[in-house]
Amino acid sequence: MKKLLILLSLLLIISCSIDSNENKIGIVIHGGAGTILKENMTPELENSYIIKLEEAVTAGYDILKNGGSSKDAVEQAIRVMEDSPLFNAGVGAVLTNDERVSLDASFMDGKNLNAGAIAGSSYIKNPISAAIAVMDKSPHVLLSSKGADDFAIEIGIDTVPNSYFITERRLNSLRRLKNRNSVSFEDTFIKDSKFGTVGSVAIDIHGNISAGTSTGGTTNKIWGRIGDVPIIGAGNYANNECCGISATGWGEHFIRNVVAYDIAAQMIYKNENLKDASKKSLDKVKATGGDGGVIGLDKNGNIAMEFNTAGMYRAHIDNEGNITIKIYKD
Ligand code: ASP
Repeated sequence: MKKLLILLSLLLIISCSIDSNENKIGIVIHGGAGTILKENMTPELENSYIIKLEEAVTAGYDILKNGGSSKDAVEQAIRVMEDSPLFNAGVGAVLTNDERVSLDASFMDGKNLNAGAIAGSSYIKNPISAAIAVMDKSPHVLLSSKGADDFAIEIGIDTVPNSYFITERRLNSLRRLKNRNSVSFEDTFIKDSKFGTVGSVAIDIHGNISAGTSTGGTTNKIWGRIGDVPIIGAGNYANNECCGISATGWGEHFIRNVVAYDIAAQMIYKNENLKDASKKSLDKVKATGGDGGVIGLDKNGNIAMEFNTAGMYRAHIDNEGNITIKIYKD
């Protein structure tokens, strides 16, 4: 009996010490920020977004819950949104001036500051997986256009014809925009052309933070325009020392303000908290004339979902499994 008690106490001590090495897990996702107003939304459409956001965030959370990596969680959450025509990423992405889809994505591993990205891809079915493959299977960080597509084919990542990505809804948006008879930079950002980029940040039981972002960019983009999404430090950043960030919004302003890294830098050098740092960086975006939002997770599992637009599709699951899904401003 005494031996059994000693054995049980030992087991308890061991399990406690394992637990104390485990970090809090968590995942946060966004499906883009922009002019998302309740009065422009039907209940059916709103419901479709909520269902898809739940599916995406849960797919990532289930991986974390089972001890999986934040890298796999971010990839899976983003793939669910890339495979849905609701978002401006993968199928259903916005169209370029010449009625094609051109995709950008990036991924960063906060454990070792490894990163991978693709820009201007025409054929990669799930750009987030290609961004991760650039990180894991090439000596480079960013591959573009035909080179990115060739790389994907060479390493066996799924590719599809460009027509796979094109939806009626995006074709209509492009044609409406073109009828305005202008290619001014402002016009690429009228109402419904401004949202749908997707992103995710997660932290796993080992305290590793990963961040990923994926987009079709902006409607009517021209001249091989590339936004902030594949630019590490602008639309995406992760560093276990502080946080992971994924951005959405007017990409040119997120590049100019180096938003994702700006948030991390405030936390590292000024000890700022994630929420305040995110707000301050978005204020800088506003000051240069842009708008958008960010999601983030810090090393203690605190989250931020900040934006200065009318709304942002967003969801979060915390360490206890509590789920939050929101679209509009509170
Ligand atoms: N940031 C993306 C870009 O400029 C667009 C978006 O987030 O909606 O390409």
